[in-house]
Amino acid sequence: MKKSRLAAALMSALFLLPIASGCNENAEKHSTRELFAMDTVMSLSAYGERCEEATLAAEEEIKRLDALLSTGSSDSETGRINSGETVTMSDDTASLFSRSVEIYEMTGGAYDMSLYPLTVLWGFCGDNPAVPDEESIKKTMLLCGSDKIKSDGSTLTLSEGQGIDFGGIAKGYTSSRIMEIFKSFGCSGGIVSLGGNVQCFGTKPDGSLWRCGIADPSSPDDGMAGLLTLTDRSVITSGGYQRYFEEGNVRYHHIIDPSTGHPANSGLSSVTVISGDAALADGLSTACFVMGKEKSLALRRASDDKFELVLISDDGEITITKGLKDCFSSDREYSVAEG
Ligand code: ADP
Ligand code: MG
Repeated sequence: MKKSRLAAALMSALFLLPIASGCNENAEKHSTRELFAMDTVMSLSAYGERCEEATLAAEEEIKRLDALLSTGSSDSETGRINSGETVTMSDDTASLFSRSVEIYEMTGGAYDMSLYPLTVLWGFCGDNPAVPDEESIKKTMLLCGSDKIKSDGSTLTLSEGQGIDFGGIAKGYTSSRIMEIFKSFGCSGGIVSLGGNVQCFGTKPDGSLWRCGIADPSSPDDGMAGLLTLTDRSVITSGGYQRYFEEGNVRYHHIIDPSTGHPANSGLSSVTVISGDAALADGLSTACFVMGKEKSLALRRASDDKFELVLISDDGEITITKGLKDCFSSDREYSVAEG
């Protein structure tokens, strides 16, 4: 299966490049770290006296969350839940679970943590994904639906065949944990890219804001559709180009539309959500990719400025929401959505 790790690495390089000049005695200390976790390339960058300790602690936290949330391991908390065990949820799982329910309700079910049986059926968890027969898809869809998963807030027991997967919000949740860690070590600024999903705070030592590239879905390994200059925000993208397989000249990507049981086909090739709340941005990037342009813009209008969007359609049209007017730039034409 194709995974665009190179794109993630290049996007990371974009913000790491301008800051590699630390020879001035008075220059603020800078630490960067790269790792592979949650099945993707991650880069961390922090400034401040204790930045080395901060990026090391962040790396440890990423590994801890990866081990806790991995669907691939039967020993992880998610793995134990998916095997039908009654599990007393850790604080992280309880938090991811309640955020998932919140985003499920907010998006009319487009974001749904309970689609895991469908992800397995399509083979997205293994090395040999393939198009399943329609009858199996329909049968598996009956097992899905977050409203069918009951929890008393502390324990969780799934019924036979059900499964959950926090893959749609895990990286946003993790990047906000990293920001807390960076701040707890007194860092003056920092930026992380977890597989191209970015979060930043503070400023660069020269006081300037962070620059965050948005990949061009038609050329994700080396093209950029736009640039955001900002701080204290997460910038999280879901795209059909990120993870997919091809069969009979058709591309099948990893984001499933719960209403069809098939990979989403809403006319969007990528959705970037910008928000101070990274778990929300991550869940919404997945949901808006399923919902399509008009429903995503309507959700944005109904959401009290909690998030902004950069939508790129299958034919390359770029639409941004009005809160990004001053921080988005692009060589290409783009429109600003009304409302
Ligand atoms: P990525 O994690 O690749 O950056 P996303 O944040 O969009 O991209 O998450 C996609 C992952 O979320 C899939 O790999 C799968 O684990 C899970 N998923 C797929 N479809 C949905 C959906 N409709 N709702 C919630 N999670 C989904
Ligand atoms: Mg997501």
